Amino acid sequence: PNAATSAPKPLFKVNSDRVEYTDSHILSKYAYSNTIVNKQADGSLVVEPVEQVYQFKTDRTVPHVGLMMVGLGGNNGTTLTASILAHKHDLTWRTKSGEHKANYWGSVTQASTVRLGVTPEGEDIYVPLSKMLPMVDPTDLAIGGWDISGKNLGEGMKRAQVLEYDLQRQVYDEMSKITPLPSIYYPDFIAANQSDRADNLIPGDDKRKHADHIRKDIRDFKAANNLDKVVVVWTANTERYAELIPGVNDTADNFLKAVSESHDEVAPSSIFALACIEEGVPFINGSPQNTFVPGLLELAERERAFIGGDDFKSGQTKFKSAIVDFLVNAGIKPVAITSYNHLGNNDGKNLSSHKQFRSKEISKSTVVDDMVAANDILYKPGEHPDHTVVIKYVPSVGDSKRALDEYECDIFMGGRQSISVYNICEDSFLASPLIIDLVVLGELLTRIEYKTGEMTKFSSFHSVMSLLSYMLKAPMVSPGTPVVNALGRQRSAIENIMRACVGLAPNNEMGLEHKIW
Ligand code: NAD
Repeated sequence: PNAATSAPKPLFKVNSDRVEYTDSHILSKYAYSNTIVNKQADGSLVVEPVEQVYQFKTDRTVPHVGLMMVGLGGNNGTTLTASILAHKHDLTWRTKSGEHKANYWGSVTQASTVRLGVTPEGEDIYVPLSKMLPMVDPTDLAIGGWDISGKNLGEGMKRAQVLEYDLQRQVYDEMSKITPLPSIYYPDFIAANQSDRADNLIPGDDKRKHADHIRKDIRDFKAANNLDKVVVVWTANTERYAELIPGVNDTADNFLKAVSESHDEVAPSSIFALACIEEGVPFINGSPQNTFVPGLLELAERERAFIGGDDFKSGQTKFKSAIVDFLVNAGIKPVAITSYNHLGNNDGKNLSSHKQFRSKEISKSTVVDDMVAANDILYKPGEHPDHTVVIKYVPSVGDSKRALDEYECDIFMGGRQSISVYNICEDSFLASPLIIDLVVLGELLTRIEYKTGEMTKFSSFHSVMSLLSYMLKAPMVSPGTPVVNALGRQRSAIENIMRACVGLAPNNEMGLEHKIW
């Protein structure tokens, strides 16, 4: 077994007849309470509390995992890789403000805590979210991947201009030993202004051969690094939307046929996703384009492969999905949300092209839908705040993205409230910790199985890992199920599913013990 393949000693053990810890697994029984609301013809509602018992089985062995990034040589890829090396070597670096040490701040798994419970005296006890279940330590991830630009990661890091010089200096040699694997380039899918980077390409134009090439890359990386598992994340340029064409990408079989015929509408990201589905490797799309055309989604379900997406929810949208949730739940009515962005990194350059911007605009625009639809006191059916998103490329601000948002709200008795938010941040410092969370949680989901009373054997969760929604702007969910964008609800889902896996009731904020005599 690999050095990192082990069942780590848990920080806590649950003492209950609903939980059993074996050497290999944590087995839990969990009564899932739900509330079924039946709408009556006269408009009244009949409400029925229901309960279903689930068994969960979590594999305790933390595997040795490799993260392969598509777009490895870009700003996110190099920033994340350098941060992992800084952790591995316990590096410190100096800036004018003093000495700094590596951290994983901004990662919900690595830098946030959850309330486990209360002591008999009523004191809240918090534990790191990463200790709720056995999870991969990001510092142990083996890093690899592809880029259409052949620069090594040392040079890629310099080009990105994200990390401080004193840190770049210390990781440069090790970073420059990593060169991205050649990748798939169909020029029509990303902006024309990217063509001067494209010097590291898999030859030919046979899309089936391209998918097989990627599959082999994954297998080779796994073998070379002695890995148990690989997770692939798309952090390459935003592509334009693929056109949905009946007979081409509408069903799994049609999609496979389109690939074998090298159809023009099959995007590079869809080829990567296909390769991962066929290899049984989780694939997560961190950009906004419709990589998962209906046929590919159907294929993932058919193969029971894990997929997630779309588009990292890093700065402006994360804030939006928290503040709009707050406003609407406070009974305040946002009537206009107006967002301006300007940024000067290569992502911004790519997005300065209309078709690629359009993918981003779509991804950013649906983010408040569920929150608005949840309150029919404020919004009539179909009513929606005006929502505008503008993105401009301003080279001189580099990776330090500026986001200006105005929330215009109707309030009490005809009053108006305007909330203005100005956010400045290195984009890659926000996105890199999300990649860690997507990999850590995505991998964990491959080790959890469930069983209900009607089932004879344990099953994995659904192919679409909607639990990753917290990290994603336009979360994919299994077909026919509702999308949740509200940040608080997304976090609760993560926390409470983990609690269920160790037989604990969901966290609630009743605090009854503090409210009684
Ligand atoms: P970047 O331009 O610095 O990096 C992207 C890399 O992908 C480049 O090195 C490019 O050469 C490479 N590339 C392009 N097409 C490729 C292909 N077909 N195969 C392999 N490599 C390819 O961008 P970034 O700032 O690292 O962001 C990456 C992606 O993440 C963008 O699509 C962006 O929209 C998305 N995203 C970023 C953030 C954030 O940084 N905060 C948030 C949400 C989404």
